[in-house]
Amino acid sequence: MSPKRLDDYEKVVGREVIEELHLVAGYLRGTKMLHVNSTRLGGGVAEILNQMVPLLEDLGIDCKWLVIKGSNNFFQVTKQLHNALQGKPVEITSGMEQVYQEHTVLNADSLDLEGDFVIIHDPQPAGLITHRPKETSNWVWRCHIDLSSPHPEAWEFLQKYVVKYDASIFSMPAFSQELPHGQYLIEPSIDPLSDKNRDLDPAFISGVLEQYGIDPEKPIITQVSRFDYMKDPLGVIQAFRQVKKRENCQLVLAGGSATDDPEGSEVLEKVKAQADHDPDIHVLELPPDSDLEINALQRASTIILQKSLKEGFGLTVTEAMWKGKPVLGGAVGGIRRQIIHGFTGFLVRSIEGTAFRIRQLLHDPGLRKRMGENGRAHVQANYLITRHLKDYLLLMLAVQRPQEDIVNFFFSP
Ligand code: UDP
Repeated sequence: MSPKRLDDYEKVVGREVIEELHLVAGYLRGTKMLHVNSTRLGGGVAEILNQMVPLLEDLGIDCKWLVIKGSNNFFQVTKQLHNALQGKPVEITSGMEQVYQEHTVLNADSLDLEGDFVIIHDPQPAGLITHRPKETSNWVWRCHIDLSSPHPEAWEFLQKYVVKYDASIFSMPAFSQELPHGQYLIEPSIDPLSDKNRDLDPAFISGVLEQYGIDPEKPIITQVSRFDYMKDPLGVIQAFRQVKKRENCQLVLAGGSATDDPEGSEVLEKVKAQADHDPDIHVLELPPDSDLEINALQRASTIILQKSLKEGFGLTVTEAMWKGKPVLGGAVGGIRRQIIHGFTGFLVRSIEGTAFRIRQLLHDPGLRKRMGENGRAHVQANYLITRHLKDYLLLMLAVQRPQEDIVNFFFSP
């Protein structure tokens, strides 16, 4: 595959946006940037880093991406922590703390953590700050999860690490916390030219439907998500069953696993049991390299759901809007920021509400089309990778030069 080139994005965002990125990046050429997260496959963070790292390199940033390793036990602990940080009452024990610290030491010993900017994504690798190799580099904690109401014990656990960073990044103002450093708001984004989002040949889309036994003539309602309780796949099936009583339609629940999420197989079993061999419910377990298939499923859908109960951002919402689809999403976290209720889709708060909105959209093709167009424009204006790249470049400048006014900075000789 040929390397990603920022200039290729001109056809989507225009020349000015590309030139501006080159201009800003010019002040950072050669800067060593390191991203660290907990999985290369599965979930939104890996999705973003896969697209962003090569483009930062194309902009002249010396950008690397490392992934921490962990035993199943470690990822059980971090998943519990993740759930508790998103509000689930989970007891944080000293045993959990010990597992977390032991893995932090192992990872710190095996990873080269040098960089002018070290961006640590999410709670799993957050403890690495205690092994920061050199005081002159800038360490930034990038939080992708919904921290609006963390379980106090879980936040207490994480906070002692987060306070040591030089800055934090959150996806929504509601997720910010009392911290002794600058906090930045950066919303995630999608890559319009990636296999997940680029235009597809209709014949390929038909082929994917055939491959999975999905009827192209019957309305398709789809949720693409890891099998995770917080994505509420069981609630989606209940809502679908209510709709099915009167409408002829089918449900696609497409998901894979993430190497840092050990709960996936348990949730998948529950989903299969609840689907109970209903021929109109397609539960698809997709391998990690299914970007084109997911793209095709989203494009073939009549309505896209993301009925999450907690959500940091919800890239699947962005992906669906980009494909001109009306989206029904749980009124939580980043979904609330993305879906403009009644304009690009609907925010839903219950199973009954979800069923009601699905029926409304199934009966109104004009509304579906308008919402789809509005959604696409919303993504074009706010959620493309070029905006995200600019935010990161500006963040680096802002952190590097705390005393300077960034606006004046660009106009100074
Ligand atoms: N995704 C995928 N395969 C799957 C399920 C999800 O590639 O089987 C992708 C999905 O298209 C999106 C990302 O993983 O790009 C999920 O990001 P999101 O922010 O929606 O949720 P997260 O998994 O990070 O909680």
